[in-house]
Amino acid sequence: MARKKLIAGNWKMFTLSAGAAQLAKAVADELTADENLLVAVCPPFPWIASVAAVVKGTPLLVGAQDVYPAKEGAFTGEVAPEMLLDAGASYVIIGHSERRHVIKESDSLINEKVKFSLASGLKVIYCIGETLAQRQANETNAVLEQQLSSGLAGVDAAGMANVVIAYEPVWAIGTGVNATTEQAQNAHAFVRSQLAKTYGENVAQAVLIQYGGSVKPDNAKDLLSQPDVDGALVGGASLKADSFLAIVRAAM
Ligand code: PEP
Repeated sequence: MARKKLIAGNWKMFTLSAGAAQLAKAVADELTADENLLVAVCPPFPWIASVAAVVKGTPLLVGAQDVYPAKEGAFTGEVAPEMLLDAGASYVIIGHSERRHVIKESDSLINEKVKFSLASGLKVIYCIGETLAQRQANETNAVLEQQLSSGLAGVDAAGMANVVIAYEPVWAIGTGVNATTEQAQNAHAFVRSQLAKTYGENVAQAVLIQYGGSVKPDNAKDLLSQPDVDGALVGGASLKADSFLAIVRAAM
């Protein structure tokens, strides 16, 4: 089955308002509609609405980097799925390693975020990945299996139509050391086999599995040519229109 590719830029906690609008416009201006390719940018919360306004009418999609699993309420500092949708986001990144390891989000909170976001109509980019110590201890598959089962608990086969998995080895994020094509393909094939066990082969074949971790213009083509690599979640290289667009072109 031919799957689309999704290239998503995670801007993390970078950009101010003018720079965010300029970056989004520079990317959107160069994009042409391609039925096999989805492209999204995930700005910081304060710029989601302005970026969505800038890219309106172009193929560029907008996502958020986090969400809180409630419709509204006394949750100081948090942002609800409905607010993200209202601001123009259609995707949300959940379970990013920086939130797991720096902000110390628990598996159960991550799972609540996944379920509530899907029920609210957001598409979820669910991030998983092992640390260097876990890879060196040959625990990569066990970690991926655990993160898939905890994060997707309660998500049924229909829900998986709105889930993208991002395999992001923690040791590759922001380090300049990307997974080799073989490491990425092996992990992606393992993830797909786990999805097949839970949801059946048809669902597993349809789910997009992105690779993330030091994707750059010069390694994107090789990574994206792997049979189970269906796109990229791009951090650092998404902050410059030229490098992000070069990665987008590598996916075409
Ligand atoms: C990320 O933030 O998800 C990421 C993969 O970052 P980088 O591309 O900078 O490694």
